[in-house]
Amino acid sequence: MKNIALHWKIMIGMILGVIFGIAMSYVKHGPDFISDWIKPFGTIFINSLKLIAMPLILGSLIKGISDLKDISKLSKMGSRTIIIYICTTVFAVLIGLSLVNAITPGNSIKEETRNDLILAYEEGARLKQNAAEEQIEAGPLQALVDIVPENIFDAATENKNMLQVIFFSIFFGIALILIPEGKARPVKEFFDSFNSVILKLIDFVMITAPYGVFALLASLVVESPSIDLFKALGMYAITLIIGLFLMIIVYIVIVNLFTNVKPLSFIKGISPAQLLAFSTSSSAATLPVTMDRVENNLGVDKEVSSFVLPIGATINMDGTSLYQAVAAVFIAQTFGMDLSFGTQMGIVLTATLASIGAAAVPSAGMVMLVIVLGQAGIPEAGLALIFAVDRPLDMCRTITNVTGDAAVSMLVAKSMGKLKN
Ligand code: ASP
Repeated sequence: MKNIALHWKIMIGMILGVIFGIAMSYVKHGPDFISDWIKPFGTIFINSLKLIAMPLILGSLIKGISDLKDISKLSKMGSRTIIIYICTTVFAVLIGLSLVNAITPGNSIKEETRNDLILAYEEGARLKQNAAEEQIEAGPLQALVDIVPENIFDAATENKNMLQVIFFSIFFGIALILIPEGKARPVKEFFDSFNSVILKLIDFVMITAPYGVFALLASLVVESPSIDLFKALGMYAITLIIGLFLMIIVYIVIVNLFTNVKPLSFIKGISPAQLLAFSTSSSAATLPVTMDRVENNLGVDKEVSSFVLPIGATINMDGTSLYQAVAAVFIAQTFGMDLSFGTQMGIVLTATLASIGAAAVPSAGMVMLVIVLGQAGIPEAGLALIFAVDRPLDMCRTITNVTGDAAVSMLVAKSMGKLKN
């Protein structure tokens, strides 16, 4: 096992987890055994990844920014990052809209199935709606207000406050650039060492990754809904998966065009992060590994990755925005609604904003979908339609989210002369 590359080990862990989960579903008390004795190890694995995310952002962003030496470099990198992120997100929504209009998966759902699904998943859908309502009730500038924490220690205690910690780190890093070199040195050195410790922690956690994903997938399999539901929602799932896959091709092509990195090298470099994204359904939990792979296998300088990736994990979710477009139009189709061109353009805008606002945790995209549906006048009850298959599709869209962040970090690095290859 020692010489096998990490991504293969993770892959083997995933496959064995699925096989074990399927086998145990046929054994009496098998699912209970998995819930009681296997799932906790998956939870421990995800928790240990999440545990690293916050200190990693704090340490690497402060160090990364203070290393920049001058502010103009930061604003150059910042504006490039945001522009490329927005462009890829809009492109993803357009891919989603084109596919869902061409394939029209909503037409394959019979009215009877639709009513059954809505009845069965009404409760779960309502919970997501309630979560979304809290966001909608806030004023238009609330998202901006939320970025600035009133207390950094308070903010750093919750992973969902990542944007606040990013804000503080950038703020702190800028101040560190602006004070005299001699005064800044001890603080910089502290964050330098702090960073090395965190990177070591990532190594430790990654040793357990194959076992962690085994536990996660085995428990997902025994908890997943019946295969009949997948069949009913098959066309929707296929449409979305094609879109997510196309988006990954887009990244491969862009990376190849602008950085000359070969498709296989790119995929090989980022694959452990993709596999973890799939297993954990969380860009935030995957962040430590994404950073590690981008720096050590794809040649992106720490200066760029430590800035671009934490921001990307929180605001750049191309998989999520594509999903929101496909899901919204799919729900409209099943209700026999014809969406005008204007409404669909409205979806481009809201899906882009909703994906920026979505937290990098499982199922966040679905909460934000409520906003897209509401804006486009599509019945929110339709959420119940896609509820059953949301988790596996969340796993897939998280792969696209993470790949997009990595690709953009390479483009920004290239444009700043910070890509080694
Ligand atoms: N799970 C996704 C992520 O963390 C967000 C979502 O689409 O639900 O990237």
